[in-house]
Amino acid sequence: VVVVDFASLYPSVIKTWNLSYETVRCPHPECQDNKIPGTPHWVCKKKRGMMSTVVGILRDLRVYLYKPLAKKAEDLMLREQYKVVQAALKVFINASYGVFGAETFPLYCPPVAESTTALGRYSILKTMEMALEMKLPVLYGDTDSLFLWNPTEDQVNELIKRSLEELQIDLGIDKVYKWVVFSKRKKNYLGILVDGKPDIKGLTGKKRNTPEFIKQLFYKIVEILSDAEDMESFENSIEEIKDAVRKTYVDLKKKNISLDQLAFRVALTKPLHEYTKTTPQHIKAARQLLRYKKTIDVGEIISYIKTRDKTGVKPVQLARIDEVDTEKYLEALRTTLEQVLDALDISFDEIMGAHSLEGYFGQKKKEITHPMLPK
Ligand SMILES: [Zn+2]
Repeated sequence: VVVVDFASLYPSVIKTWNLSYETVRCPHPECQDNKIPGTPHWVCKKKRGMMSTVVGILRDLRVYLYKPLAKKAEDLMLREQYKVVQAALKVFINASYGVFGAETFPLYCPPVAESTTALGRYSILKTMEMALEMKLPVLYGDTDSLFLWNPTEDQVNELIKRSLEELQIDLGIDKVYKWVVFSKRKKNYLGILVDGKPDIKGLTGKKRNTPEFIKQLFYKIVEILSDAEDMESFENSIEEIKDAVRKTYVDLKKKNISLDQLAFRVALTKPLHEYTKTTPQHIKAARQLLRYKKTIDVGEIISYIKTRDKTGVKPVQLARIDEVDTEKYLEALRTTLEQVLDALDISFDEIMGAHSLEGYFGQKKKEITHPMLPK
C-alpha cells in the first residue's frame, strides 16, 4: 500500500483558484459563471486576488526554494537557517487562510474559508477519480492523503504528474506499507511499514504515565503485528493478540501482577502545599507518604496504585496487592488499547467475556440516574 499526500494543499488551492477576500463573490456579473465546485460561490476572472498573490508567492518560495535548500545546503548552519525560514513560511501560510473563518479577523469572510476547504475536498476527489481511471484502487482517503492499493512505480509517478498538470497540486509519496488494516468505521488504521515499523493512527500507548504492565502488553501487540508478513500470518497475529490481552486480563483479575507493574508514575511539578483547590491522585498519594517521610521535593516521582478504599489511591510503598482496584485498571487497559484493537476489529468486551459486560452496563445505568438529568 502506497500513501500519497498533498503537499500544502490549501495554499495551492488558494493560489490556483485565485481565492481572496475581494475575488470570492466579486461584484462583476460576468464572473458569476466561474463557480467554485461544491459551493454557491464564484470567483473573479478579471483581477488577481491579494491573498492569492501573497500566499501563492510565499508558497512557491517555500516549496521551490527553501524546502529544497533546507535539504541540500552544504553548510550545516545555513541548512538550519533555511529550515527555520521554511517552517516560518509554513506557519504564516497556514494561518493566513484560517483567519478568514474567524469572526475576530477584520477581513472575516466565511465564503473564502468555505471555498478553500471545498476546493481541498474537490482536489482530493478529482485525484481519486484519476486514480480510478488508471485502474488504481483507492483504499482510503482523508483530508490530505490517499491510500493506493499495490500500484506500480510508473502508476504512482503518472498520478503525481497528472495532479500537478491538471490541478496544480503537488502530490508526493508519504509512506509505503507492507500491509495496513482499517477499522470497520474506517476511523482508525494500523499498518506495518516496509522497514517493519508499525504505524498506528493516533497512537496513544506511549504516554509516560501508563502502568508498566499496560505498556508491556502494548509493545507485545506491536511486536506481534510487526512479524506478520502477509494476510495469512496476519490472521494468526490477531489470535495471538487476543490471547495476550486475555492473559493480561486474567492476571489482573487473579491479582498476579506486581504492585511495581501496576504503579502509575507522576512527577511532582510544584510543592505539595500549593495544591489547594484540586488534589490529583498523585498528590493524595504523596500526602499519605508524608506521614513516613519528612519532605517530598519538586521533581520527585510519585508512584501510586489505584485502590478500592475511600481515597481510591495509595502510594506503592503502602499498598497491598489485595487492595488493588481491578476495575479501574481494566478501564486504563481499555483506554490504552482501544484504538489499536478497534483498527483490528477486536472487541475488548468480547475478550473479557460476559462478566465485564455487566460491569459496563452497570456503569451506564448509574449515568442515567444521575441527579443532574431531567426526569
Ligand atoms: Zn470579477
